[in-house]
Amino acid sequence: MTTPIDVLVIGGGVAGLVAARECAQVGLTVTIIEATDAVGGPVAGHTLDGLSLDSGAESFAVRGGTVAAFVDDLGLTDQIVSPNVAGAWLHLPALTPRSPTDAAVSVPLPKAGVLGIPGSPLADDVRRVIGWSGSLRAYLDRLMPVLTIGREHSLGDLVKKRMGQRVLDRLVEPVASGVYTTSAVDLEIDVVAPGLNRALTTAGSLSGAVSALRSGAPAGSNVGGLLGGMASLPAAIVAALEHDNVTILTGITAEALARSGTDDAPTWAVTVTRRADEDQAETLTARYVIVATQGAQALRLVNPLGGAFDALAELDWPAPTAVTLTTLVLDAPALDAHPRGTGVLVSIDAPNVTAKALTHVTAKWAWVAEAAGPGRHVVRLSYGRAGHPNPTDDLSDDELQALALHDASTLLGVPLLSNSVRAFARTEWRDALSPATLGAPERARQVREAVAATPALEITGAWLAGTGLASVIPHALEAGDRIRHAALGLTITAPDL
Ligand SMILES: Cc1cc2nc3c(=O)[nH]c(=O)nc-3n(C[C@H](O)[C@H](O)[C@H](O)COP(=O)(O)OP(=O)(O)OC[C@H]3O[C@@H](n4cnc5c(N)ncnc54)[C@H](O)[C@@H]3O)c2cc1C
Repeated sequence: MTTPIDVLVIGGGVAGLVAARECAQVGLTVTIIEATDAVGGPVAGHTLDGLSLDSGAESFAVRGGTVAAFVDDLGLTDQIVSPNVAGAWLHLPALTPRSPTDAAVSVPLPKAGVLGIPGSPLADDVRRVIGWSGSLRAYLDRLMPVLTIGREHSLGDLVKKRMGQRVLDRLVEPVASGVYTTSAVDLEIDVVAPGLNRALTTAGSLSGAVSALRSGAPAGSNVGGLLGGMASLPAAIVAALEHDNVTILTGITAEALARSGTDDAPTWAVTVTRRADEDQAETLTARYVIVATQGAQALRLVNPLGGAFDALAELDWPAPTAVTLTTLVLDAPALDAHPRGTGVLVSIDAPNVTAKALTHVTAKWAWVAEAAGPGRHVVRLSYGRAGHPNPTDDLSDDELQALALHDASTLLGVPLLSNSVRAFARTEWRDALSPATLGAPERARQVREAVAATPALEITGAWLAGTGLASVIPHALEAGDRIRHAALGLTITAPDL
């Protein structure tokens, strides 16, 4: 047993780091334990062919302004950059293939949409993707009555009902899969497109709702990045935590939680093991605990607490998805022309391509292009869709590199030979659970209820907040804020149930 510290944070992803900072800033003693060797989770970087690149998250959504405000607070405002406005393309099966060689088409993703849902179904760039008949079917949405009673849940079902199968298959599914790794049919509208349900009722049609959401959004790109890569975010938080004397212990896994003492003066005993010696358990004690792990690990820790946590195990949690990222650094002057804008989103039905998305990193981010110089390009491909086995699981690194090069050639429309490869990396993200699946808000509500009934405990992280830093950071700030209020004896703000 150790002398109790004020706050123990379990999990050193962005959520844990942010919540820890919230507590440490008011002078509480804070320790973070992280199971792996590095903090930051998928907000990580690597160096390839001398270039510092992101190996996981590469941008943040600007909605709400929370990430920018947080970045500002860390003193990184002048590091915020915007991506190339060229936008992404779609790779789809041809509508009317004449031969096996033209079985697929590449077309720019229409501009005026939300998650691929068009605001103007008859616009030229939409017709190029779904054809005249698809556009006319989509336009019927303007003429249909709106269901004003009850809410839609499945994004895919809503799109299919209002605009037809082509809009779903050719516009929305590739975006859903690229961003959420999940079919649109399984995505909860209120999580992935907040405000769409309400706008649908007000505007009277889905395309009207999309236009209303877009006109209400701030001008400029809806994502931002950081000069030098998103991995500089956890690095900057760690620097701030060190300034506030936070202890960060890596290679330490929380195995079990137990609470003793009274509600007014609780003590948590957290059993941990060290990676170096997994048979040797130790106990850390703290007045407050913040669980900031992925969902499955968090549930494993809190289920034995009983009470309202018992029922959580019975909920229908989605299975985690394994995503494989491949990064290629290429000598390929033909890519200087950015043939497919910032990248390509791939339809699951497109022939001859296994990747679900490609990012042309040197086309998207000027700072990477500048570091790479003319003719040298960075291309990133991702593999793995929810509900399907990861197609790269049985591939050796050499086989995966060959597949990535083949897919990149097809998607970019430029022949890329193996001697153009300067560097290759494979990064596995094994717990890319999509927190945006159907039922997510209700599951999150039940977790919040259980947490609210347990003094001195908070749970945060993407599995509750929603995928992405724009959801994770505000959620973690609130969790940290509640703990620091409780620890300082101030009124605790109840979570918004
Ligand atoms: C490939 C990929 C690309 C992405 N791209 C973007 C993007 O461009 N923009 C964006 O906004 N978001 C992106 N995301 C999503 C975003 O990165 C995540 O939503 C966010 O980083 C999750 O942070 P978190 O702290 O909730 O979880 P995590 O970062 O997963 O942190 C949880 C931590 O808990 C640790 N842990 C687990 N169990 C224990 C235990 N028992 N004891 C101690 N530690 C434990 C884990 O090792 C982990 O470090 C991407 C995600 C992936 C996988």
